[in-house]
Amino acid sequence: MTHDTIVLGAGMVGVGCALHLQARGQAVALLDRRAPGLETSYGNAGIIQREAIEPYALPRGLSFLLSGVTNRRVDVRYNAADAARMLGPLWSYYRNSAPAPLQKIAAEYETLIALSLETHQQLMHDAGANDLIGGQGYLMLFRTERELHSFHAVADQRATQGVNHIKLSSADVAQEEPSLKGRFAGAVRWTDPVAIRSPGDLVQRYAQLFEQRGGAVHLGEAMTLRRADAGTWQVDTASGHTLRARQVVVALGPWTTQLTSRFGYTAPVIPKRGYHMHYAPVPGQPLNCTVIDAEYGYVIAPMKKGLRLTTGAELANVDAPRNTAQIEAAEHIARQSFPLGQRVEPEPWMGTRPCMPDMKPVFGAVPEVPGLWCAFGHGHQGFTLGPVTGELLAAMMTGAVPRVDVRPFSPGRFG
Ligand SMILES: Cc1cc2nc3c(=O)[nH]c(=O)nc-3n(C[C@H](O)[C@H](O)[C@H](O)COP(=O)(O)OP(=O)(O)OC[C@H]3O[C@@H](n4cnc5c(N)ncnc54)[C@H](O)[C@@H]3O)c2cc1C
Repeated sequence: MTHDTIVLGAGMVGVGCALHLQARGQAVALLDRRAPGLETSYGNAGIIQREAIEPYALPRGLSFLLSGVTNRRVDVRYNAADAARMLGPLWSYYRNSAPAPLQKIAAEYETLIALSLETHQQLMHDAGANDLIGGQGYLMLFRTERELHSFHAVADQRATQGVNHIKLSSADVAQEEPSLKGRFAGAVRWTDPVAIRSPGDLVQRYAQLFEQRGGAVHLGEAMTLRRADAGTWQVDTASGHTLRARQVVVALGPWTTQLTSRFGYTAPVIPKRGYHMHYAPVPGQPLNCTVIDAEYGYVIAPMKKGLRLTTGAELANVDAPRNTAQIEAAEHIARQSFPLGQRVEPEPWMGTRPCMPDMKPVFGAVPEVPGLWCAFGHGHQGFTLGPVTGELLAAMMTGAVPRVDVRPFSPGRFG
């Protein structure tokens, strides 16, 4: 049970790391308390967001901040006590969302997003997973001319950075999606992203590829990680074995710092929870592609299990009680415009986006802990960024030169 590296966490990020370390000739073990891809990487909106060259900033307008006071917005809600404990990181997030710092952060973020699609495409090809592609591109729908035209400026700017789109009028939208009931002012269709019709299945296919190539997947509790003699690490599997390796990657999503803090490293993760529910399609009223209702911040995505509605952000601790008010509000609005049939599950699913105050993921060596590496904090785009993170981290861990400058993502900027 001795390996070169143990990867803890089999979400999109951990599996991406495991595959790329393996591709560099390492013997790798992957450990999770559940089967691969069953946490947040399972329940997201499934978009490989090649267009997301700017991370999700906090809206800074006074009207947004005031409208949040009642905690009834559809796109953002919060658990007041938990949000109060996050005030420091939230203040930092707010300051980083100002135009000047955001411009610098976006330039760094773009270097990852630019490689996101090609790194997925290679893995999808190798894993024989192209059948999970639901469609090319997605629609950002706008209810008012004002919002639509101000977003045109965003789309035009991104076009100068190599991100493609098509502008759709109200009539174009009605023609492309005849089952929509509401009237929309228009839409922007991002044409580069890829919509996956079962995100959890994609993680599982990648994990299967890892196994076919000789990797080992284990069930186990990551918190059993401990330092052993001679600079090695040990962790226990659920079947009673002990895994040993010189290097460990901690990729536990929002739980990552619970483990790394035991070894002296922590970072301010802002947990943004999200919910989803599947609905039966209404016969004869298909939804042809994934759509975002820009005003209310929810997504409707055609998936294997039905039409998946995913919510915006709920600021609440990862283990706080679930609060389904936000998805109920989103469902209420969505039913007025989209052909949603009966709910197909008894309860909404919930997951957590691990967000950082500077909106950038964290990957690299944990400072002052030899052999300990981490990869977490991918926020709104971890499904998109898992494979490229794996590629870059694997290069760093094996002494190669990563394809992009990885310094902006260094764990050392926190802690
Ligand atoms: C509603 C919603 C919609 C989203 N839509 C998109 C989208 O369209 N596109 C996109 O790119 N991103 C999207 N995201 C974000 C994306 O899903 C996340 O950023 C991504 O899944 C994070 O991946 P991860 O591997 O870091 O974490 P996870 O997928 O959460 O994986 C962490 C793993 O660690 C394991 N683990 C945790 N603790 C332990 C422990 N103690 N012992 C053992 N194992 C442990 C868990 O079981 C889990 O498998 C969305 C998120 C939400 C909530």
